[in-house]
Amino acid sequence: MRRQETEVQERKASNIDLCIVLRYRKKILTQKVGNHWFYSGLVRLHILHHAVEGPIFGFGIIEELSRHGYRLSPGALYPLLHSMEQMGYLRSTEERSGRWSRRVYRATPLGRETLREAKEKVRELFAELFEKEAEGSASRPQRRSAKA
Ligand SMILES: [Zn+2]
Repeated sequence: MRRQETEVQERKASNIDLCIVLRYRKKILTQKVGNHWFYSGLVRLHILHHAVEGPIFGFGIIEELSRHGYRLSPGALYPLLHSMEQMGYLRSTEERSGRWSRRVYRATPLGRETLREAKEKVRELFAELFEKEAEGSASRPQRRSAKA
């Protein structure tokens, strides 16, 4: 009898634990993966934008992205640059100065064309994202007077 009770209690406890774990895991996934998942496209476009403007290199891009609030480790950036090169958007060369060398990336014609198309899409999305806000700020004084 006692043994059964403890078994039931243990089962209840493990169910609660599971609930907590699942809830917590969902929160972690949303915070860590979710944001990154949404921003990864923006980071790619940002990199492409700078590669179209001029030659870029890993550390410089990490600094540039951190200026915009994106924290990317070399371990995350280099595979990204590599895959962008594999897909034909960037082309890299090893550039030496004295004892040091670094890999420098430039946009290919495909990269330039892709950025041009993406900018049109970003412009459209931007307009839609901020359309309501523009309307909201126009009607804000009315809302205030209605409250008072
Ligand atoms: Zn930038």
